[in-house]
Amino acid sequence: MRTAVVAANWKMNKDLNEAEILVKSLIEGYSPSGTEVYIAPPFVHLYAVNKWINESGMRLAAQNMNAAESGAHTGEISSSMLKSVGASTVILGHSERRDIYSESDGLINEKVKSALAAGMQIIFCFGEQLGERKASAHFDVVKAQLSEGLSGVSADQMSEVILAYEPVWAIGTGETASPEQAQEMHAFIRDYLRNQFSDAVAERTRILYGGSVKPSNAAELFSKPDIDGGLIGGASLQADDFLAIVKAAS
Ligand code: PEP
Repeated sequence: MRTAVVAANWKMNKDLNEAEILVKSLIEGYSPSGTEVYIAPPFVHLYAVNKWINESGMRLAAQNMNAAESGAHTGEISSSMLKSVGASTVILGHSERRDIYSESDGLINEKVKSALAAGMQIIFCFGEQLGERKASAHFDVVKAQLSEGLSGVSADQMSEVILAYEPVWAIGTGETASPEQAQEMHAFIRDYLRNQFSDAVAERTRILYGGSVKPSNAAELFSKPDIDGGLIGGASLQADDFLAIVKAAS
């Protein structure tokens, strides 16, 4: 039995005051269950959010990191910096990093290897563009992103990897993959893990769905056998909505 995961990706939203209001509302309404809940605020709020969620049962995640350990990388953040403020989980490969900041599969793979070597847990994101789905290339695209992004990762290291399938056409658009479309892809991903690693890795790896998950569609998505929770963008910015999604996964 896999433990469900629901992760909030705040992206570039909330100033410090707004972040405090949101976290306090989350803590007020949150009753820990078996589900793992992660909050991924912007870098500058990690330290404060870590203090606020302390003892709440919620966990901290970062939205990105640099593959290098330190040095001349102006504006960048390393794994040791993240760990020093309480974030030992990091989102890598998000489609906005791939599309807006031109992160290639190769660069994402460097970050994956660096984060794992530093003892971090990863939420590894991938998913096809609308044109790729329309051209029926979505399975090939996802397979290539997994193969290149996770290149060099061992079966043992996969215990620190959570996968997040996020069809790009469903992110922030209000358009959700149907539960059947999502399940079909998640089953494909689990088969890929079985072939590439082992039955054990396929069975234990959590595969999240992301893309316009809301309180109204979360329960149906999470009821599918290969969907182990969600990565939540827009709906994570409202405490009530996010808590309703967490409840749907529990
Ligand atoms: C995301 O940013 O990972 C995401 C899934 O966003 P949204 O829920 O807004 O589609």
